[in-house]
Amino acid sequence: MGYKKPSFIENIAEKLGVIPNLHKEGYQEFDKDMCQFSDEEVAKMYENFPPPEKWDNWQEYNPKVWPRKEKKTYQIVPTTCFNCESACGLTAFIDKETQEVKKFEGNPYHPGSRGRNCAKGPASINQVTDPDRILFPLKRKGKRGDGEWDRVSWDEVLDTIATRIRKAILEDRHNEIAYHVGRPGNEKFMNWILQGWGIDGHNSHTNICSSGARFGYNLWYGYDRPSPDHAEAKFILLVSAHLESGHYFNPHAQRIIEGKMKGAKLATMDPRLSNTASMSDYWLPSYPGTEAAVLLAMALIILEEGLYNRNYLENWTNWKEYLKARHSDKEITFENYIAAMIDEYKEFTPEYAEKESGVKADMIVEIAHKIGEAGERFASHNWRAAGASNLGGWAVARCLHFLTVLTGAVGAKGGTSPNSWNKFKPTQPNPPAPQKKWNELHFPKEYPLAFFEMSQLLPHFLKEGRGKMDVYFSRVFNPVWTYPDGFTWMEMFSDETKFGLHAALTPTWNETAFFADFVLPMGLASERHDLNSYATHGGTWIAFRQPVLREAARRNGKPVKLTYEVNPGEVWEEDEFFIELSWRIDPDGSMGIRKTFESPYRPGEKITIDEYYQYIFERVKGLNETAKADGFTGQFAALEYMKKYGAYEIEKGESYKMNENQLTDEQLKGSKVDPINDVISKDGKGIGVMINGKPCVGFPTPSRKNEFYSQTMVDWKWPEYATPTYIKSHIHNDVLDKSKGEYVLVPTFRLPTLIHSRSGNAKWLVEISNRNPIWMHPDDAKKWGFQTGDLVKLNTDIGYFIDKVWVTQSMKPGVVACSHHIGRWRRPQDQTGNRWATNTVNIEGDGKGGWRMNTISGIKPYDSSDKDSKRIFWKDGGVHQNITHAVHPDPISGMHTWHQRVKIEKPNEGEKYGDIFVDTNKSHEIYKEWLAMTRPAPGLNGERRPLWFNRAFTPDKSEGGCYYIPKKEQ
Ligand code: SF4
Repeated sequence: MGYKKPSFIENIAEKLGVIPNLHKEGYQEFDKDMCQFSDEEVAKMYENFPPPEKWDNWQEYNPKVWPRKEKKTYQIVPTTCFNCESACGLTAFIDKETQEVKKFEGNPYHPGSRGRNCAKGPASINQVTDPDRILFPLKRKGKRGDGEWDRVSWDEVLDTIATRIRKAILEDRHNEIAYHVGRPGNEKFMNWILQGWGIDGHNSHTNICSSGARFGYNLWYGYDRPSPDHAEAKFILLVSAHLESGHYFNPHAQRIIEGKMKGAKLATMDPRLSNTASMSDYWLPSYPGTEAAVLLAMALIILEEGLYNRNYLENWTNWKEYLKARHSDKEITFENYIAAMIDEYKEFTPEYAEKESGVKADMIVEIAHKIGEAGERFASHNWRAAGASNLGGWAVARCLHFLTVLTGAVGAKGGTSPNSWNKFKPTQPNPPAPQKKWNELHFPKEYPLAFFEMSQLLPHFLKEGRGKMDVYFSRVFNPVWTYPDGFTWMEMFSDETKFGLHAALTPTWNETAFFADFVLPMGLASERHDLNSYATHGGTWIAFRQPVLREAARRNGKPVKLTYEVNPGEVWEEDEFFIELSWRIDPDGSMGIRKTFESPYRPGEKITIDEYYQYIFERVKGLNETAKADGFTGQFAALEYMKKYGAYEIEKGESYKMNENQLTDEQLKGSKVDPINDVISKDGKGIGVMINGKPCVGFPTPSRKNEFYSQTMVDWKWPEYATPTYIKSHIHNDVLDKSKGEYVLVPTFRLPTLIHSRSGNAKWLVEISNRNPIWMHPDDAKKWGFQTGDLVKLNTDIGYFIDKVWVTQSMKPGVVACSHHIGRWRRPQDQTGNRWATNTVNIEGDGKGGWRMNTISGIKPYDSSDKDSKRIFWKDGGVHQNITHAVHPDPISGMHTWHQRVKIEKPNEGEKYGDIFVDTNKSHEIYKEWLAMTRPAPGLNGERRPLWFNRAFTPDKSEGGCYYIPKKEQ
């Protein structure tokens, strides 16, 4: 702000010492330059980021010594944020004198975030300076989980792990090696590593995150995520709290607001009045799990009132296949297609949708009209939210995409594109062949359509003896805390016959690392390399996460060989760790592993990190030329450009309607066209489709079109879901017994300031958000006699937890909710970590599957190198709710369905805040109940999963190979 004279009240407050004297002489002097500027002019100054030519010698005043004027000189080095999946640009301000990172700001050269960040971006500095962070590799002593550790060398770590992996591979025990990641990054880096080892060893968190919605989208058009073009949209429908959290949240939020400023209307479907809903033009407080009914009601209105895009439906949906399969008595005409759809959805009247969801019929009609009017400029998104919470949650994304298809907004400007159209795919050096192994601990036969690994069931698979993990890496992954049923994870981690060696690759302590054999500190966002590209808008970009001190050292003429030479302590980085480990697994190259990790420029020698990224960057369209134009000339020009700017825009936003791109003559050579469905195929694979006489690329589905009718669902034994459907959730009102106090708990929402278990070491963030009470509507609170702050006992299917009530009108009546970030803990024997956020708890098992946790003490001030740790004023660290949830894998998509049926009670005498009980025998029974709902593989030809479905780390697809179940096992 520009200079302002003190007000009367300020004058008095300053004189009384209630506030500091902001108008004393020093301040006036300091601020006099600013007096001549208006507020608007000052605001403009803040928009101006230091120009890149000054990034090596940038001076600004040190705010810490204010009002004294003291100039500091910084080096500014770009990198990317790791506090959510958006990978927004950051710039590190490094004190030139001390070579310490002092702060992080945005990077205006990053095309996704454009210089802006949410609170979690700048808070990366807290993570760097966290006094509790792990600085050296550690090895457990005593029993696993006892909490005692010895410092070891990286050499010992690498040799121990490499020897064990080598032995497993040589003994054909490939499936006993796994890398289990929570928040990935590293476009394709781990594919390169694990496929280089020839193992099917990737496990991910995706089935507790987004795979439900992915499955719904994939069925339609072969892409598993949407890329909404919010900034150009006329109407935006969010089935999530996407303005404040969710995937690509800050970049999307900017563009949603841009769209709104240009006149777009925003609707949000959410049982909570989230910050997103409060910024919307329409809030649809739907009962959880009924979203698909509302969306189908909108679809019916659009169909009945002729608001659909006839041209798009006629050309780009597989309607002829649908009529043939479902209405063989009818003539195949477009009119009959529309009539059949209207008939199929006739029960989904607005009144029926209102009865199911509680959303007013009038509002459903109004929004259907708005969507119809927006036409191609209809943008929408469902990330976790409903898709991640309900039995059949995947059907929500499928029904949402139905609206996108009806309006012809698929891939249109202002519409919703497939995510892959706005995402870069790297070309890596020495690409390994797909592995010839299939790991049934990740993709078991029972879940052939599961969109990602059935990671939430791993402990149950191990418990019932389906296999073991000999070498298991956990990375940015904390299942004991983040996953449902954490006590079963704890039981399995404690058993060395289930997990032979567990290496936790983590910069900070967490509830899972307590049960590891090695704890290996990997760099934070600004301490390692990584490559990012995400679908943030209608354009494509790449960003380069780099260890900023390493880059500063290089600029200062003191280059280092390995990143841990500049990082604090011996904190290393994953890229270099895995390259080194790969060489030690196969030191003489005889296993065929080493060759993947040799330099593409210096044959036979170990690839360096610079070579790996240069190889990728020099193949990015236009980057070499841009680097040259910026003055970079040598062999590593593309890499140097990325080191300087941290990001590159590959394409600005012309990637619309790419399904209409035409196949080239070269591509068409040797192809044939199916006379019935017009699909163009070559070598037995679909490559396009004839549309109005033109050979178009189409979509990667069997029909090359949007599949309103899915033969795949029929072939894989789910004919009742061949077309978009509403599936009643496991927490549908019909299932709950309200007379017994049964409610639905929404445990999925994110607070904008926190991120799962990764933000516990960021003091600014925890200072803002440090409790997770139960949101309850006043009507429900009255019924139960609760007031804000009262204790409430929530009984789940396997146990209970005791939390506090927050009475708020922001919650839909009949539904309760609890944020999932809070309730972190450590036991007295554990190493101190995340003390801004962790309760100290006592955990006791009865040896028969019964586990109790109670809080010994909350969060307390403590002495450390950070003075703020003595100023902690919050005491309440919240409650760990996920550990009381049973696994509920959707039998089709494999997604864990997060919503919980809970029985609400007042706690019994003696029960305290934070008390938790779980019976892991019950959780195993519930696992079996849900397993019994599946319809296992094989497919028609013995396949483990539909060949056209993408699969993470795709194994070899040759006929008769690992993608097929051997006859004797079928
Ligand atoms: S949205 Fe926030 S947390 Fe996520 S990457 Fe961007 S700045 Fe970081």
